[in-house]
Amino acid sequence: MKIPFNRPTRVANEFESMRAAYDSHKIAGDGPCGKEVEKILQQQMQAEKVLLTTSCTHALEIAGILLDLKPGDEVIVPSFTFVTTALAFLMAGAKPVFADIRPDTLNIDEQQLPSIITPRTRAIVVVHYAGVGCEMDAIQSICDRHRLVLIEDNAHGLFGSYRGRPLGSFGSLATQSFHETKNITCGEGGALIINDHAYIERAEIIREKGTDRSRFFRGQVDKYSWIDKGSSYVLSDILAAMLQAQFLVFEEIQSMRRSIWQRYRQQLRDWALQYRIRLPCVPDHCDQAYHMFYLLLPDGRSRDAFISYLEDHAISAVFHYLPLNLSRMGLKLNGDKQPCPVSENVSERLVRLPFYTNMTGEEQARVIQVATGFNPAVHIQAKLFRQE
Ligand SMILES: *Cc1c(COP(=O)(O)O)cnc(C)c1O
Repeated sequence: MKIPFNRPTRVANEFESMRAAYDSHKIAGDGPCGKEVEKILQQQMQAEKVLLTTSCTHALEIAGILLDLKPGDEVIVPSFTFVTTALAFLMAGAKPVFADIRPDTLNIDEQQLPSIITPRTRAIVVVHYAGVGCEMDAIQSICDRHRLVLIEDNAHGLFGSYRGRPLGSFGSLATQSFHETKNITCGEGGALIINDHAYIERAEIIREKGTDRSRFFRGQVDKYSWIDKGSSYVLSDILAAMLQAQFLVFEEIQSMRRSIWQRYRQQLRDWALQYRIRLPCVPDHCDQAYHMFYLLLPDGRSRDAFISYLEDHAISAVFHYLPLNLSRMGLKLNGDKQPCPVSENVSERLVRLPFYTNMTGEEQARVIQVATGFNPAVHIQAKLFRQE
């Protein structure tokens, strides 16, 4: 039996919850399940307002529209992230500017920010990589000093915290993902977290196809009409029902993921030390979100050999991200003016092990047993030999 890289989180009551939503004949967006999930998230984040969306990408698009960007405006994003952290702001008219990452946490390098801020910079988007907080004290003070909007792409960081404060509560805006690979999932879904009151009214309008339909449903206007830009960004209540079933037991989900993460760290430590393989770095002032377990191999050849070795033993491991500054679109936007050496180096060496909420003890034991049988010197040779 092959061990997959990911299996979507599954708790007990998703089907019952979705069935109840269906039976209530309210399956469009903003139904009772959606409201309940928004309430849980709002309490968790101590947010002003939470709006469920069709994806994290769409929540980022709403954030982009809210910034009212003018041609030539720049938005700083890390180079080492998923495409849509940058794409959403490009769609809203900005030029993404790529920042390199720190070699320890693989988060945006806050020390580099002052040198890439220009008079056209409008916002900084941070990603809490693997659910470990970016250096928010420094980043927040840079944003204050330069009057920049701080946005958190918190797709990895749900339930993590930085100096005791929830990730997703620092930015004026933050976004969540409920894609099938994330800790809590409904297949495809997301949320916009609003921490600055001034954005609430317009965000509701943008999310409701540019109309003031939300105010109409609250009885604040007697008809609704077209007010602003927007699109169809509201999550169906069937999907919100699936999320609700998982949010009601989020502490159990997190505790299952914590155990799996800690077992990997404990049982891979000696082997990693022996072969100069680096385990994830979690600073003391960060409570991580247990989103993934990654390793940094000494170089690209050993990383590729490790992935094929695991594949030969029926274990799926994957790598990500290709640095955005080197992507075809990134080069078109920035030329080669902006090298991000750490991001480029890490991208060749990183591997993510199978890691999912419902991973069994036997599955994990097999991954650990196989992984610790890997010896870069021996297996790089074996791979070369086979290719000849
Ligand atoms: C998963 C992810 C996204 C995209 O989320 P969707 O809900 O699939 O749009 C964006 N940013 C990061 C960092 C992610 O990991």
